[in-house]
Amino acid sequence: MTKVKKFEHIVTSHGEPGPGDGGRTGSWRVLRPVIDLDRCIPAKRNKMACFTCWLFCPDGVITRTIPPQINLEYCKGCGICAAECPAKAILMIEESHFITEEE
Ligand code: SF4
Ligand code: SF4
Repeated sequence: MTKVKKFEHIVTSHGEPGPGDGGRTGSWRVLRPVIDLDRCIPAKRNKMACFTCWLFCPDGVITRTIPPQINLEYCKGCGICAAECPAKAILMIEESHFITEEE
């Protein structure tokens, strides 16, 4: 068994499959998580490391990739990822901040 496979057997806060199980919960969001790639450990080091956000997200909407990505269609904005990130790399920003940018 490879190291990666062992890592994948860690029990996370979400069972599979994850995204979409609770419907399109992205519409609930008041605050949007934004990852600061200058602080995010795997993004900074270009290594498969950390991913605490992926581990704790209750909806399984964060990828275990470099850099991690958040599926905003299903992210409900709970802020658990930001609270758990050891590098304080996730900022929770008011959705209203993005309205003009996306329209
Ligand atoms: S928990 Fe923070 S530092 Fe770790 S992968 Fe997620 S955003 Fe990056
Ligand atoms: S705020 Fe973070 S922990 Fe909460 S659903 Fe969105 S990505 Fe997951």
